Amino acid sequence: MTTTAENALLDAITVASEEGRAIPDAATGETMGYAPRHSVEDVDAAVAAARRAQPAWAALGHERRSEVLRAIAADVESSAEELARIIAQEQGKPLGGMGARFEAAGCAVWLRSAADTPVEPELLFEAEGTRSELHYEPMGVVGAISPWNWPALIATWQIAPALRMGNTVVAKPSEYTPLSVLALAEIINRHLPEGVLHVVAGGRDVGAAIAAHPPVDQVMSTGSTATGRKIVKASSCNRARLTLELGGNDAGIILPGADVGQIAGAVFGGAFINTGQTCAALKRLYVHDSIYDETVEALAELAAAATVGPGLDESSEMGPLTTDQQFGIVTDLVADAKERGARIVVGGEPAPHIGPRFFQPTIVADISDGAPLVDTEQFGPVLPVIRYSSVDDAVDSANRLGQALGASVWGDEEEAAKIARRVEAGTVWINQHGTLNPAVPFGGIKQSGYGLEFGSHGLKAVAHPKVITR
Ligand code: NAD
Repeated sequence: MTTTAENALLDAITVASEEGRAIPDAATGETMGYAPRHSVEDVDAAVAAARRAQPAWAALGHERRSEVLRAIAADVESSAEELARIIAQEQGKPLGGMGARFEAAGCAVWLRSAADTPVEPELLFEAEGTRSELHYEPMGVVGAISPWNWPALIATWQIAPALRMGNTVVAKPSEYTPLSVLALAEIINRHLPEGVLHVVAGGRDVGAAIAAHPPVDQVMSTGSTATGRKIVKASSCNRARLTLELGGNDAGIILPGADVGQIAGAVFGGAFINTGQTCAALKRLYVHDSIYDETVEALAELAAAATVGPGLDESSEMGPLTTDQQFGIVTDLVADAKERGARIVVGGEPAPHIGPRFFQPTIVADISDGAPLVDTEQFGPVLPVIRYSSVDDAVDSANRLGQALGASVWGDEEEAAKIARRVEAGTVWINQHGTLNPAVPFGGIKQSGYGLEFGSHGLKAVAHPKVITR
């Protein structure tokens, strides 16, 4: 059953209809709230205020800032259900499983991790009366541009480390999911001095203005590879440091001899988490000829059994595509695969009886490299499964695309570990896919971006190194 219970957090951030931009419920298309219409002028004001607030915030020191982040984490936990319901409605992911409650809880986990991870000065050299240390100083003002797929969690991945390291932040949520980030910021700002965190809820022009704004010292951007390229160009104006977490088209390789019954659930979960709308989801699966049919069948059974429905419906396991544009991309890629003669084992069609942006969980077999469904990021509930007969060919296939965020190898652990060394990606998982840990750095290579998030690497990435020699 879907319920739209009272939500004080949503009431606190939604503006009057005549002032705001209507934000649709991803499942129904009906308006769920109104986001402020921020503009490029609002970026100027936010950056100026963030600049003014930064020295005092930095002067508080690591210990005090960490205490503030811990208090925020506790408050996020107190409001987790309200935050989760906003995410479930706006972005569409189901409340349960690896869904909206998991996302809201993850915000608190990553806030605490940013607070608790030590960043000490590093001793570089000490001899003959000379000592050189490496210190990590705040960058200044950080622009934090985030996407719509994990709106609150990804904004947290940017905001929490930036704050911990003494920066102030101007955050730009996706135009599709501003309410989730405004709700997160509403909680965070209960604990911060004025001016330290701003949310500018505008469109792409607002993101572009942040990326090119002279007093912005660092831009953290998570989004598509195409947007990343534009941000790189824009940063030539302000020479801002960049952290770019961009698109992925993660390959999974299932080795001969793998126990299909044992791994099928984790393979399916790695591909269909958040209805496939996850940067590091498994997006193309290479399966050895000897276990191909068995694997396709096992995945098809799981896809057929998945309960698809609105995020707010407690029984849903998979939600809608968040945007009309994404729904169109997925529909077109599957239609093209059919035209090429690929086999739709299960699904393959929209599900308009559930809602306008729902698509059936889909397994596509007998498809090859070169098909757009394999070569482009589908970002939806569709997994192409490609047959291979030589492991070397599978590794070549995995490595042949520009994007290289994550990848996975499945089968005998020792054998998989050897293959993992040959796969080009920021992270290669063995017998799992997409599992993230706040203590373990995460980032892409090639066209999936550069710079790391999480753990001490992530904290150092929002600080500038300074050598002190005496
Ligand atoms: P997107 O690139 O369209 O938008 C991301 C953000 O960038 C939005 O806030 C948008 O308004 C802003 N933006 C757009 N044009 C801009 C410009 N010229 N200058 C500055 N900002 C601009 O991406 P999306 O559709 O919101 O998200 C999906 C994409 O994000 C997928 O490709 C996915 O793989 C990727 N993603 C990557 C990671 C990661 O960690 N690597 C995580 C999540 C999503």
